[in-house]
Parts: sequence; C-alpha cells; structure tokens
Amino acid sequence: MSTNLAFDVPESAPRRALQIVALNGLFDEMDAEGVLRHAVSEVLREDVAIVSSFGADSAVLLHLVSLIDRRLPVYFLETGKHFPETLTYVETLTRHLGLANVRWLRPDPKDVTRFDPRGELWESDPDSCCHIRKTEPLDAEIANFGGWVTGRKRYQTAERGVLPHFELTSDDRIKVNPLAYFSDADVNAYKRAHGLPEHPLFAKGYRSIGCAPCTTVVAEGEDPRAGRWRGLNKKECGIHFDFNGAIAKPVAAVEKTLFKDGKFIADPFRAWAEGDDPAAVRYTHIPLEMFVANRAAVLGNPHPNGLLIRAGDAIEEVAADLGRFASVAVEFPKFSDGRGYTTARLASERYHYAGELRAVGDVLMDQITLMRRCGITAFVVVHPATRKALETGTLVTVNRYYQPIGSAEVPVGTRPFLRKAPETV
Ligand code: SF4
Repeated sequence: MSTNLAFDVPESAPRRALQIVALNGLFDEMDAEGVLRHAVSEVLREDVAIVSSFGADSAVLLHLVSLIDRRLPVYFLETGKHFPETLTYVETLTRHLGLANVRWLRPDPKDVTRFDPRGELWESDPDSCCHIRKTEPLDAEIANFGGWVTGRKRYQTAERGVLPHFELTSDDRIKVNPLAYFSDADVNAYKRAHGLPEHPLFAKGYRSIGCAPCTTVVAEGEDPRAGRWRGLNKKECGIHFDFNGAIAKPVAAVEKTLFKDGKFIADPFRAWAEGDDPAAVRYTHIPLEMFVANRAAVLGNPHPNGLLIRAGDAIEEVAADLGRFASVAVEFPKFSDGRGYTTARLASERYHYAGELRAVGDVLMDQITLMRRCGITAFVVVHPATRKALETGTLVTVNRYYQPIGSAEVPVGTRPFLRKAPETV
C-alpha cells in the first residue's frame, strides 16, 4: 500500500503526532501484514528492528516478518534466565522461518556481577533485574533505529486494552504493533493455518512465556499474562514503558508475610474486599458465608481462589466443596481462642483437604508447632519476634504430647498428662 504519510526526517513533533493518528486510521484492525509492510517500507524505510521474546505467540509476528523481509533484524533478549525450551525454540523458529538476522542481546556481564552476583535479584527486586537484563541491553540497541515492532496485543492485559497499531514514543521513535487487535483465538488460528511450530511449553499450559523464575502456568479463563510475575504488582518488564529516560515504574514493595515451605514468600492471595464479584475474583480468600450465599457463582468461577473460615464458622457446611479451593485460610482471632485448631484438624483429618491450609490472624510463635500438628502448612505472620524465629529456625517446639493427634503421636510413657520441657530446634 502506498501513502503520502511516509515520515520525512526531521519532522516537527506535532506533525509527527498527527501522522501517527492518521496512520492508525489507515488499516483494518486485522490487517497485520499490511501494517507491518507499510511500517517497514514506507514509515520507517527499513530503519526498524523487530523485538521478539520467542514466546508462546511469537511465531505469528515472526512469520509476518519472514513474508516481508527475512533480513530484518530480530532481537531476542537472552536474559540468562530463560527456560531451556525457549532457547531451543529460538533455533527452531529461526530455521523454520528462514530468518537471516536474529540477534541475541545479553546483559552487560559487569552489571550482572555488580547487581545480581547470585542470580536471585528477580526474587527481591524484579524491576531492577528486568532493567539490567532487558531494558538496558535493548535500549542501547534500539537507539540505532527509528522505530521497532512488537508482538503485543490488546487482549493480553487490561493495560494493553487500548493498544493502537502505531505509537509515537516520547523520544520520537515509532512503535508498531501489527497484532494489536488479534485475539487469543486469532493467534492460535493463524499458527494452525500456517503450520507454525509451537513453543514446547505451550502444550503444558504456559500462555505467555518469559524468564523461567517469573513465569507460571495459566489457569483456564485467566489473562494470558497472569502467569507472569504472579503475586507481584508487576505486569511489564519495562521495555514497553515509554522512553522518557526513566526505567520501568517500580513495583509496589510487596511485604513477604506468608511463611511456607521454610521461607517467607510474596503472598499470591489477597483478602476479600467489599464489592468483589464472587463469580470473577481470582486469588482471593472468599469468606465462608459469602461462599455459602453465592455457591453456584463461586463454583463457576474459573480462577484459583481460597476460602476463609472464621472462628465462628462451621467447616461442616462447606466440607464437600473444600477441594475447589487452592487455599483454605483458618482464622485464629486471638491467642486464647482455640477454635482454629479444631477447624484445621477437621479439614485435614476428617475431610482430607490436600491444598494449602494456612493460619491467619493472631499467629504467634508459641502456636506454630501446634498449628502444624493440626495440619496447617502455611502461616501469615506479621509479629516481628515470630517472623525472626521462623527466619532463623529458632522456634520453640514440643515433641512430647499429652493430647496426641492422629496415630503418629504417642503419649509419653504411662503418664501421658506429664509434659516434658520444651525443646529448642
Ligand atoms: S522476567 Fe524475571 S528473571 Fe527475567 S529479567 Fe525480569 S525479573 Fe529477571
């Protein structure tokens, strides 16, 4: 397609902005090939780079590139944290499509040594990890081009829901999103129609594939990108924020209050809030009375959720449905209230609940051993001394019982009412 909207350099900023608006009116929503062809030949005149994650959907954009010009530079950010399957897929797709100019970008080894010597920065500060492993290497390269092409789509997240075909960035570059209007079904149909090889992890439930530590399987009905940085207030790696000299917006610091499997981790679940929709919430502990009142809606909700059982609740009411929940939170409202222990034992021993059984509320160090004996596997802990005891492994515990639980605990000798002194482990 030919048009007089080609960009003559230099342009005044307002004129370029107007041209972008006009460009976005030129193409049918689904004319991805038209958008890309025009961007390469008319708008940017080959002064363009393609950026691809070689993830679950990448084959579509790269196939379009192969139809237009196999020599176009395609950048893959080799962060050093990818799944081995992704690295294999880069080779597979490159060969299959005959791409002649795939360039692997790696982080500066000096940055990695300085900021992430143990390779664990993703866990404590994912923004900085993305910054040194993705944003900086890409920024340096993209500075050599008038624009770049991405595979982003509107359906992927709410934040991407207004994505146009063409964007003008504040550093006066043009970003092209040929697949902006493609749906998940369109992407899959395109892959099938053109016989494109799938990412090896796609069949295992990965719908958006980034670095291995920050990517999880996505449940049916979730946003495709819900598996990225799960549990963190982070949706993008930073390379897609506007170029304004700033790095990615910092994620809100997430306090790690959930003690599970021997360490404190960011809690993927949140508490129920007024106005929440039982049919649509995700990773939320739904109070028992709310579940009972909206049972059909909750059971029809496709997202992972939890159940909150407060001290006065009767677990018997929901026994048959416990298996629907990925997490059951048992409330311990105060130290002297023992009803949570009974609830936990019923859940684990009578109803054989096998998911995460967590203690919430007034969780203190003296209770944790008892809670574990009752089947609790995770603890939400804010009490500083208890947190310290858990972190340092100095929890006071008891291994002699006058009220044994299950068949494994045996009363001491013939006088089970005599408790031995606590032991520190
Ligand atoms: S996605 Fe995760 S591992 Fe990859 S660069 Fe970002 S924080 Fe680091």
